Amino acid sequence: MSHSSFSTIAESLQWAYSQLVDSSESAHIDAEALLLHCLNKQRSYLYTWPEKVLTADQFKAYQTMIEKRQQGVPVAHIIGEREFWSLPFIVNATTLIPRPDTEILVETALNLPLAGNAKVLDLGTGTGAIALSLASERPQWHMTAIDKIEDAVALAKANRDNLNLPHVEILQSDWFSAVEHQDFNLIVSNPPYIDETDVHLDLGDVRFEPSSALTAAEQGFADLFHIAQHATKHLSNGGYLLLEHGFEQALTVRQKLIDLGYVNVATVRDFGSNDRCTLGQWRGE
Ligand code: GLN
Repeated sequence: MSHSSFSTIAESLQWAYSQLVDSSESAHIDAEALLLHCLNKQRSYLYTWPEKVLTADQFKAYQTMIEKRQQGVPVAHIIGEREFWSLPFIVNATTLIPRPDTEILVETALNLPLAGNAKVLDLGTGTGAIALSLASERPQWHMTAIDKIEDAVALAKANRDNLNLPHVEILQSDWFSAVEHQDFNLIVSNPPYIDETDVHLDLGDVRFEPSSALTAAEQGFADLFHIAQHATKHLSNGGYLLLEHGFEQALTVRQKLIDLGYVNVATVRDFGSNDRCTLGQWRGE
């Protein structure tokens, strides 16, 4: 349904909400986020100036965005940006949209007793969200981030430039292939871990994200297990492995780490109280 006359901010939001309420579980938030993007303003502006009338161009741009959202396109893809760890990340359809759940992995990594000049590796970096957030907090860490997908590598590099973190090394690599003879004090990863047959893949934002970033064989465990096994050859003595996983995968991941010889294995919950990351320490052989 189109809307021809120019509207105030309050009317535009109301109209957008009515358009989105049947297709989005977050219709209010989406309507606001997209209008803020159109107007290039902060949230408080909408409530300070509810009577302000949008220009014809602004309303047209807003209509186009609302139509895309009605078709299910994620807000982050429409805007081209998603905030993670209070940093703005450029996003596109080549990789995963950063999730707030993953902030617990960043927080857990920052709490580890690592040396000031620790060597850290982020596997499957995607937008670069984890590696660049860690680098922003620990500028002295030697950070390497890899991704197998060429377009994701380009995106992570764009984010590195945008966030002005030039010392972060970003490489195209099939897991450890480009860092073959290197050891790290910390290896982190948010790999694909969803079972290929999971019904949730037909719902919401994941429909617009590539399966290369989402799904893995062996009920979603294939990449988690591959990383856990191969990390043993790339961790310095006492080095840590920190993996994000699905909320029902913690027990199996912990068991795998213990079987491989990791010690101090523990799971951390995210801010929604779901098991989200598992940590292990490598004592060498
Ligand atoms: N946590 C994400 C989701 O459930 C998936 C992220 C991943 O596979 N690494 O949508």
